Amino acid sequence: MIKIEKLHKSYPIGKDSLHVLKGIDLHIKEGEFVSIMGSSGSGKSTLLNIVGLLDVHDEGNYYLNGQVIKDMNEKKAAILRNKFLGFVFQSFNLISYKTAVENVALPLYYKGINRKERLEIALEYLEKVGLKDWANHLPNELSGGQKQRVAIARALVTKPKVVLADEPTGALDSTTTDSVMDLLKAINDEGMTVFVITHEEEVAEQTKRIVRLKDGVIISDELTKASKAV
Ligand code: ATP
Ligand code: MG
Repeated sequence: MIKIEKLHKSYPIGKDSLHVLKGIDLHIKEGEFVSIMGSSGSGKSTLLNIVGLLDVHDEGNYYLNGQVIKDMNEKKAAILRNKFLGFVFQSFNLISYKTAVENVALPLYYKGINRKERLEIALEYLEKVGLKDWANHLPNELSGGQKQRVAIARALVTKPKVVLADEPTGALDSTTTDSVMDLLKAINDEGMTVFVITHEEEVAEQTKRIVRLKDGVIISDELTKASKAV
C-alpha cells in the first residue's frame, strides 16, 4: 500500500538546509495499523505529510498503491488524495460555521455528489462514530472527543484506503483518547490501513506495529502485543 525506499527530505532554512528525513525505508501493507513515535522534531509529521501527498520528498522512492510518486503537480496529488487518503489532525480542523453533518459531507462535495445524497451518507458515518444525535450541532457545541470523532467520520466518508492521523489524541484526555483509539481499531478491523503519529506509548501500544524515528532515521520497527492478540 505504502512503500518508501531510501527517502530523504530537507527544508531550506535561510541559506542553509535542514536535513529532516535521512534515508527512510518503510513498507506498510494493506490493512496494517501502524504508529510512528519519536521526539519532537524527529520528522514524524514530515514523513506523514509526504505519505499524504501534502509535501514532496527530495530523494528516494515512494509508491502509493503501486503508483510512483515523484514530481507530482498539486492537481494530480489532490486527485490521488481524494481517491486513496483520509486525514485526521490533532486540532480537528473542522469548519466552525458548518454543522457536524455538513463537515462530514464536505469531502463528498469534491466528488460531485449532490447535497441530499451527501448529507444522507454523512449521517451514516456520524452514526458509525456514535454521533448521529449531534448531526446538527456546530463544532463549538461538541467536546474534544466528539470533534475528533466528527473528523474521523469526515476522513472515512470517501472510503479511503488509508487513514493518516497526526497526533489524533494529542488534544484529548485519557478516556477520550481510548474512545478515539477504539474507533481507529474498529476501522482497521474492517480492513482499512491506519497510520498514526503519537507521542504517547499507551496509544502506540494499541496499534499493531510501532515504528520509532530518531533524528530522521528509523531506529526500530516492531509488532506490538495487540498485533498478536486474537
Ligand atoms: P512534533 O512531535 O513536534 O510534531 P515532528 O516529529 O512531527 O515533531 P516535524 O514536524 O516533521 O517533526 O519537523 C521536523 C523538523 O523539520 C523540525 O526541525 C521542523 O522545524 C522542521 N520543519 C518542518 N516543517 C518545515 C517546513 N515546512 N519548513 C521548514 N522546516 C520545517
Ligand atoms: Mg508533528
